[in-house]
Amino acid sequence: MTADPPSDLTSLVERARGGDREALDAVLANVAPSIHRFALRMCKNGHDADDVLQDTLMSVAKHLSDFEGRSALTSWVFTLTRNACARRRRGLKNRPPVSDERVAYEADPAPTPEARAAGQELVAALSSALDGLPDDYREVILLRDVEGLTAAETAAALEVSVDAVKSRLHRAREALRAALRPLLEPTAAPATSGCPDVVAMWSKKLEGDLSQGDCASMEAHIAVCPTCSGACDALKRALLACQRVRGEDVPPAIQARVKAAVRAWADGTL
Ligand SMILES: [Zn+2]
Repeated sequence: MTADPPSDLTSLVERARGGDREALDAVLANVAPSIHRFALRMCKNGHDADDVLQDTLMSVAKHLSDFEGRSALTSWVFTLTRNACARRRRGLKNRPPVSDERVAYEADPAPTPEARAAGQELVAALSSALDGLPDDYREVILLRDVEGLTAAETAAALEVSVDAVKSRLHRAREALRAALRPLLEPTAAPATSGCPDVVAMWSKKLEGDLSQGDCASMEAHIAVCPTCSGACDALKRALLACQRVRGEDVPPAIQARVKAAVRAWADGTL
């Protein structure tokens, strides 16, 4: 929804507000993949994610007129999704999660089978690493690093301050990198006590919050310290794998089911 947004999403929203049903369908189709990806990982359950998608799209259709601008819409859609997931979690606490097969990824069309296998392995490992993170870490990574929201949009979606998002994000990225360490840094020596916290520094750099001086000293340290260089590299690869998760789309059967349900609801309501 946020990377390569159709330039006309704002105008589609305007038209949908004016009662244009095709425009409403287009707006919903535009936000659906992000809602579904986020719900799949927050609910850890494909059936719940399908229901969350449907509930959220109905809320979007119902309240579209309350929102100005794409950024506000993006954040709000995730707030709705998050609330819908939380409701399901409360209601279905004792139900065991179904298998993870729905949380499967399409591999990049990598040039070699080896590269493809390596990429698949990383994305699969990322999947279980994400599942193993605490909810508040997982959701900040999903919004910022998978869906590509800005820190401000993420803060609005999570209804916390930008500073809170950033500090949580740094900790979450460190946890993600630690979880992926067996795959990405299998032979790494432990960082020595003299090493700076390069993973936190790199995360700050990504958020534009690392001073030039700190950045220079980090780069200088990475240049001579294989452990820290490996740690930074692992974080970069993990974040790249996060972007590949974005390629997941809503399965066609679910798209059709949800679209029909939203249409039926809209026919009776609008
Ligand atoms: Zn070091």
